[in-house]
Amino acid sequence: MKPQPRRDETPNHKVLHLAELLDFRPDQGIIRLHDQRVVILSAAAMGLFRKELIDTLGLDTARRFAIRFGFADGYHDAVNLRERSKWTDPLDGLRAGAMLQTLEGIVRVEVRRVVHDASTGRFEQEVYWYDSYVAEQHVHHYGKTSSPVCWSLVGYASGFASACIGKEIYFRETSCVGQGTKHCAAVGRDAESWGTDLDIIRSDFQAASVGHEVERLHDAVSKRLKELDRREQLLERRERELNLLRERINRHAASKNFIAGSQAMKDVLELAARVAPLDTTVLVYGESGTGKEFIVRMIHDQSPRAAAPFVSINCAALTETLLESELFGHVRGSFTGAVRDKAGLFEVAGAGTIFLDEIGEIAPTVQAKLLRALQEREVRRVGAERSIKVNARVVAATNRDLRAAVDAGTFREDLYFRLGAFIITVPPLRDRREDIPPLVHNFLTRAASRMKKDVSSVSADAMTALMNYRWPGNVRELEHAVERAVILANNPNIRVRDLPPEVTQKPRVRPGDDTLDLQQQEKVMIERALERFGGNRRKAAEALKIGTVTLWRKMKQYGLSP
Ligand SMILES: [Zn+2]
Repeated sequence: MKPQPRRDETPNHKVLHLAELLDFRPDQGIIRLHDQRVVILSAAAMGLFRKELIDTLGLDTARRFAIRFGFADGYHDAVNLRERSKWTDPLDGLRAGAMLQTLEGIVRVEVRRVVHDASTGRFEQEVYWYDSYVAEQHVHHYGKTSSPVCWSLVGYASGFASACIGKEIYFRETSCVGQGTKHCAAVGRDAESWGTDLDIIRSDFQAASVGHEVERLHDAVSKRLKELDRREQLLERRERELNLLRERINRHAASKNFIAGSQAMKDVLELAARVAPLDTTVLVYGESGTGKEFIVRMIHDQSPRAAAPFVSINCAALTETLLESELFGHVRGSFTGAVRDKAGLFEVAGAGTIFLDEIGEIAPTVQAKLLRALQEREVRRVGAERSIKVNARVVAATNRDLRAAVDAGTFREDLYFRLGAFIITVPPLRDRREDIPPLVHNFLTRAASRMKKDVSSVSADAMTALMNYRWPGNVRELEHAVERAVILANNPNIRVRDLPPEVTQKPRVRPGDDTLDLQQQEKVMIERALERFGGNRRKAAEALKIGTVTLWRKMKQYGLSP
């Protein structure tokens, strides 16, 4: 209870004198402090009340409320105390105020220093507050804070000092138990001494009435609502843009007879449409026959480069030397058969798009040159001295797992990262079987009209077989199967017997089929293909849908003789 003044010694009898001011009348339910009725509220209840204020009004408004509440309380106490005590020196009043706060159990006040020059009006007081119940409650509800929280104490000290001195005195808490310090510290000054800080401090004390506060809150709320409105509009705009994009994709797909009813395929088209306008390099993954070319073409058509050339090359179809010369060009006499200067596709594409199909098949030397072309945006014709600047966008496609090729050391990792800036994976047909019936009808109509045959429907059995088959060759294989069926059909309805045998047969287990080892599988497939075509590498490669160069490399790798 007893304050512990240091430089500011206070005689004990004054404490006693103040204590006598507190008049308990338990029988009447009334407590009086210097003839004013007071009530005792538990610190916990006050803490809860304070929390309610903060949670409903927000920290800043609650803080100002507490400051002004404290100010009124302190001012009131000072006026009452002065009437009773009749002190002559305002500093006596300050000391009494400090003790009163201690007595009321709010905080134990230690006055560290007080300077008051009545002639200039300059006032400065430093106080320490020990065991502030306000800070205690704040930490209890909210944990430690970054700024002081004894707002009502700041208010009280300011109100009390202002009444004593007869001038505007404002306190500011400089450190607080709420921040983790041992005690709180505050400093009070006359308005003038606060200098440039005065406006900010004063606004906390004078922020007018509750009405103003409510108005301020109202403004804040309507600002928030407007912000929400703006966000909603932004979302709506995005939604509209997305719908436009989807419409554009649908139109494009429809104009090219491309069927994408499944969500998986719709997602792919949306990805493609989104990346199209950007200048990013794109890598399109997908098994052969899934429609990678369509996706690549769409990227070009929907890009700002649409008016510029679109050139494509199948990297698997050419030998290393030819591929290099095709991509980068050559000068006359650089190799046998180079009878004149030739521009490479990078030059031909200009500001357009160059499509590198089967990118997974290119040889290491070409990989290095391609990387240079992508990085430096320049190419050098085979046999040329100087480089040429190029500007074409590169879109590549592959049916191989390039990541695995990187791990196996057959594909450069840096090139993989360059190409794979944006990857689109086209799902195999077996993963979007709901697209099979519309695809079948589309192919059927087209084949029938081309062949001038009256075939217009598919029997339920036949459709079931078509739906259940694995389609390793994907859409392309399906198209061929339907064309074949149209040729064979001898009535308007396609039947099971018109379908290719592999579609209607139960899959047979063959040697190698039970292994999950990809390389083992590949070896078995190559052996089988070579066997079927009597060792003809060109035909075998065609059947395997890989380049002859790749086939030859793999045969070496697996130790297979032609
Ligand atoms: Zn504090």
